Amino acid sequence: MITLTPDRRRAVAERLRFYHELGIYDFYRRAPGSNAAQTTQSESPDPMPLKRTTAPAVLTEDLPAPSLQQPEDCAGDPAESLRIIREDLGDCTRCKLHKQGRKQVVFGVGNPRADLMFVGEGPGADEDEKGEPFVGRAGQLLTNMIKAMGLSREVVYIANIVKCRPPGNRTPERDECDTCSPFLMRQIAAIKPKVIVALGATAAKTLLAMNSSMSELRGRFYDFRPVGAHSNDPAWSSARLAVTYHPAFLLRDPRQKGEAWKDLQMVMKELGLAVPRKNAD
Ligand code: SF4
Repeated sequence: MITLTPDRRRAVAERLRFYHELGIYDFYRRAPGSNAAQTTQSESPDPMPLKRTTAPAVLTEDLPAPSLQQPEDCAGDPAESLRIIREDLGDCTRCKLHKQGRKQVVFGVGNPRADLMFVGEGPGADEDEKGEPFVGRAGQLLTNMIKAMGLSREVVYIANIVKCRPPGNRTPERDECDTCSPFLMRQIAAIKPKVIVALGATAAKTLLAMNSSMSELRGRFYDFRPVGAHSNDPAWSSARLAVTYHPAFLLRDPRQKGEAWKDLQMVMKELGLAVPRKNAD
């Protein structure tokens, strides 16, 4: 199995997004030895289609094809896939957050077959204590937001970009997000949600590999495919992804709750849910 470095993974994600935004979903591998003579005008050869490959990734000569095989590929159902991913994660020490005061890995919670998934930034003190995402004050607000949508925590799935508490609740650093997020990608591929809601800038920027502001990221759907992971269900290849404010931010600035509610209403319409008139509070 080939493991991509975080920089390579990000480069692949950015290149894929660029092509997806152009509406290109089929990619091709160069035939061996066909590159140099055809690229005389640019130092950065453009991967023109020459020979089709089954790997759903953009490939360049110096970029190894990411292996899409995962231990959970033979699992019978999403719950079993999640169990295998959790087992693979183990008592993780892959990034420096494991030695900065975390009590436990906070994997995720909810319905393994959820249509709707929420992705936050990382566990806080309460989450670290209980081993469950979004159980503190911000978690209570998220629970209310979910209820306002006519749903419950039990029917959605909730996870974070990083699974260990950053010290002092600081924002997770790029290398920590890059190291941890492949496990989230595998969770997403196992659950196969119709819609993902990225809560806050860290989640949005990591999932979308974009460095835009929240005002630029909100208010639309993105076609999201988990980088480096794939579903074993051929009927699912992507989710619709929306961005809204993190509940912790809404606690600090309650005036933005109305804007968050607009985001959730957009999600509800996408899921075919009836939109009530009241705000989440
Ligand atoms: Fe492992 Fe993720 Fe925790 Fe880092 S944050 S130690 S990658 S589980």
